[in-house]
Amino acid sequence: MTEPVVWVGTGWKMNKTLAEATSYAQTLAQAALPETVQLFILPPHTALATVRAELPASSPVMIGAQNAHWASEGAYTGEISMRMAEDAGATIIEMGHSERRSMFAETDETVALKARAALDAGLVPLICVGEPGDVRAAGEEIEFLSRQVDAALSRVCSSEVRKVIVAYEPIWAIGEDGRPATVDQTAPVMAALAALLARKSDGRGPRALLYGGSVNPQNAGELLTDPTTDGLFVGRSAWQPEGLLEIAQLAAAARVPD
Ligand code: PEP
Repeated sequence: MTEPVVWVGTGWKMNKTLAEATSYAQTLAQAALPETVQLFILPPHTALATVRAELPASSPVMIGAQNAHWASEGAYTGEISMRMAEDAGATIIEMGHSERRSMFAETDETVALKARAALDAGLVPLICVGEPGDVRAAGEEIEFLSRQVDAALSRVCSSEVRKVIVAYEPIWAIGEDGRPATVDQTAPVMAALAALLARKSDGRGPRALLYGGSVNPQNAGELLTDPTTDGLFVGRSAWQPEGLLEIAQLAAAARVPD
């Protein structure tokens, strides 16, 4: 598999009607996409099949679900399985986002179960990790994140780490109340995570190690000056397709292939 030079993706969270999702996907379908950038979008479950249908079958844009249950089927009201997410068009499954951890009782153990189930279904786990502000203030972020990564990968064997995407999303940097991180703040953490993931995979590393948290067109290029950052996971700034495309162009310019 030839990997892209840089990744740029967005999760839409609890946003967009089918009409809005259709419009977004149509804009992407008509846009000239930078070839060196692997784009991905994580619509809400309701819009997965619509986005899949609107993008041409040959589109390089990957589609993912923001959550899926680890069980294959059964009495889990409100949930969808990995197979159902895939059936609707997803190839990526997000897990461990701080909003799901804090509001929907996602735990290290359920993240581990989801990572295992996604891999078993042939899907790409996108595992989010991130420390709260007080942990960062205490200088304990590497220990905190290492524990989250260890737990998330506790059911994944070393040869499978290569199939996993990890996103570092410090909680203090996410969302409307977030403080955008500088590359001086992200780079040491990304280096520590890259080293940890390399150790866990006999040197191969994950499929991608992304940074997310208040990424925007003003800071995207700076964040990508860190060579251990394989790409950007964007929220608000990419909720319109023009935003995603602008950051993708900036990422392509920041990472010119050798
Ligand atoms: C997120 O919540 O995963 C995220 C990256 O959001 P934002 O870019 O809006 O901070």
